[in-house]
Amino acid sequence: METLFATPQFIHHGAVNGVTGSCHEYRLANNYGVLIDCGLFQGAESSGAADGAGSAGSPQINFALQHIKALIVTHVHIDHVGRIPYLLAAGFNGPIFCTIASATLLPLVLEDALKIGVTKDAKLIAAFLAKVLRLLVPCEFNCWTALPALGDAAPTLRFQPAGHILGSAYVELRHNTLAKQHYKTVFSGDLGAPYAPLLPSPKSPYAADTVVIESTYGDRLHDNRKERIKRLEQVLLHALQDNGTVLFPAFSIGRTQELLYELEALVHRLRGQAIHQGLRWDELQIIVDSPLAAKFTQAYDALKSRWDKEAKQRVQQGRHPLSFAQLHTVDSHAQHLALVHYLASTRQPAIVIAASGMCEGGRVVNYLSALLPDPAHQVVFVGYQARGTLGAKIQHYGPKGGYVDIDGSRIHIGAEIITLSGYSAHADQQGLLRFVLGMRKRPQQVRIVHGDNEAKQALQQAFKQHGVNVVIASDDAL
Ligand SMILES: [Zn+2]
Repeated sequence: METLFATPQFIHHGAVNGVTGSCHEYRLANNYGVLIDCGLFQGAESSGAADGAGSAGSPQINFALQHIKALIVTHVHIDHVGRIPYLLAAGFNGPIFCTIASATLLPLVLEDALKIGVTKDAKLIAAFLAKVLRLLVPCEFNCWTALPALGDAAPTLRFQPAGHILGSAYVELRHNTLAKQHYKTVFSGDLGAPYAPLLPSPKSPYAADTVVIESTYGDRLHDNRKERIKRLEQVLLHALQDNGTVLFPAFSIGRTQELLYELEALVHRLRGQAIHQGLRWDELQIIVDSPLAAKFTQAYDALKSRWDKEAKQRVQQGRHPLSFAQLHTVDSHAQHLALVHYLASTRQPAIVIAASGMCEGGRVVNYLSALLPDPAHQVVFVGYQARGTLGAKIQHYGPKGGYVDIDGSRIHIGAEIITLSGYSAHADQQGLLRFVLGMRKRPQQVRIVHGDNEAKQALQQAFKQHGVNVVIASDDAL
């Protein structure tokens, strides 16, 4: 028998003392809860070292599941969905709610994650994906959908565009509590930056009683987009002077497509102009070396109807922002290895985009092993590097002429390491504030999750200055 709580409870199973492993439990009754995301821990957070909480970083599901009635997925980044295989293995058999675009993308992401981290057994993978497909409930944006029944509480959910990656959403949850009809909580998921290319920026919810908000960049303000594009142009001009490869470690989903979009714009604007004597912008080879990224680029391309105004205008002008002439994709592993060898030995000028974004695995690792020792090459970071990841180590030790260990080999870093910090798929402090302050009816409470300590505290201070009641969520908080 379910006993409805007077106000819902929050239990955080990840992304509370860091930015990865997003998994929040929303408890409506003693025997009724839903999960919002079920992501994998990465970097230092995957060992539990980040918070000293022992098994906190393990992918195994270490919390009770009997009362969990549904999983709600905000978007398909691995740090929000990567523990789904473990969730199913632990016995979860409820519906998985997500947006229609996420439902298309999720099987691709999980297949990739399983192959890299769990098993290469095609039968096992197929059986697992078939189960995920059976549980998926794809939802339209901006439509209320019923959650599993809970008497008169009548819980429902609604997805709204978050502008972070294709299909990404923040989620509104509504139910009747003993004290209030239509008690509403918003989980922000990851919110996009307002000027991010391709996707419309997120709009504030109308009202909520509680908002659970991410704080990845809660202590930063991003450069505006014009400055960012200018900096990208300057970095490339500088990097390509001595030829060599400019390597962008990037998330396959979202960041790769944003980069391609910006690179197409650069090449379009500077067509015919010289980078140096022997190389024009329109001769520059741009390579996406990630089969997953290539699949996602196709998915982005197919969903043009969801693009923002600027991107649609480019298409109307006859341009192909994500499939332009100089763009090449590398598919097979043999091709990939040949290309790494070719670029390392010839120093042919090229831009390579490869996953994973934090260099924790994937093809980018082979590029780093081969290119890092040579000063002719550059590695450009355009995304958040979680503590303890190879990406964070390269970012830290590279500019000091240090070294990193990759697959047991010590690699001295000769290549130039550049961080383009203005590039982010996450809202900055202004964007996060605007999300809440722009609401017609302000929430009674804002709960901050998904950030490092400094970011959470800075965001908390900023909210307080605007008179918002705000708490930083902790592991054991209810
Ligand atoms: Zn994300």
